[in-house]
Amino acid sequence: MTYDVAIIGAGIVGAACAAALASAGLRVIVIDRSGVGSGTTAAGMGHIVVMDDSEAQFALTSYSQKLWDKLSGELPQLSEYEHCGTIWVAADDEELSEARRKQEFYTNHGLAAQLLDERTLRAAEPNLREGLAGGLLIESDSVVYQLTATQFLIDKAQRDGAEIRLGSTAAAITDEGVRQPGLAARTRDGSERDHVALRSHRGCAPAARDRDRRVRLAAPALIRPPRP
Ligand SMILES: Cc1cc2nc3c(=O)[nH]c(=O)nc-3n(C[C@H](O)[C@H](O)[C@H](O)COP(=O)(O)OP(=O)(O)OC[C@H]3O[C@@H](n4cnc5c(N)ncnc54)[C@H](O)[C@@H]3O)c2cc1C
Repeated sequence: MTYDVAIIGAGIVGAACAAALASAGLRVIVIDRSGVGSGTTAAGMGHIVVMDDSEAQFALTSYSQKLWDKLSGELPQLSEYEHCGTIWVAADDEELSEARRKQEFYTNHGLAAQLLDERTLRAAEPNLREGLAGGLLIESDSVVYQLTATQFLIDKAQRDGAEIRLGSTAAAITDEGVRQPGLAARTRDGSERDHVALRSHRGCAPAARDRDRRVRLAAPALIRPPRP
């Protein structure tokens, strides 16, 4: 079997890439040495936050937020997708002036942001300690149970034809594809190989750099068999 894309890692990022690429019609394989969502994803909090450290970060995180909102109707109930909001807590006056700066940034970029004083902060989150100066509430931020969402994306990719290979380690990415110790796939000429073969023999990095990946991948030495 020859693939267009090999994704190493069935965490939330690999799962999202697999779902998007498989639905775009690419032949995808996901390889994970352990299980779905068994890496950093298992430790995450699932908070989907629009950030403001730079214009680029704001653009990326607000786009991501929109995509999650769009996906939320499809997510299983156990994903517990919810617009919980974020409160950026300001402990003192210096931090409160930073909250004001943040509010201005978000508001100027079309995102509703409400400045809280000590009293309204306490009303919004009664479990915070006494004596805080205030905070900034972003109501549109959300949260998702990331493990269920990751499994959902893997299942979606699989329904669109992706192969999911768990308990299988990728040892290296080479010009032949992804090397997997212990893999003995029989090739067309009857010989055996230990690589997950990719259609592009130039390796992943150049293909990923290329904007028109389909054109680049269209000159393989191995031909993708028709889908069943
Ligand atoms: C405590 C904590 C809280 C967090 N909270 C948030 C949050 O609220 N919001 C947020 O957006 N982010 C949060 N993050 C960050 C977020 O969890 C990570 O950015 C995200 O999970 C990364 O996902 P990933 O798919 O890139 O990596 P991972 O989940 O680590 O997946 C990588 C996968 O690759 C596999 N793998 C690695 N090497 C190989 C190999 N050679 N062969 C085969 N498989 C391999 C691993 O088994 C693993 O499953 C938090 C992180 C932590 C630690």
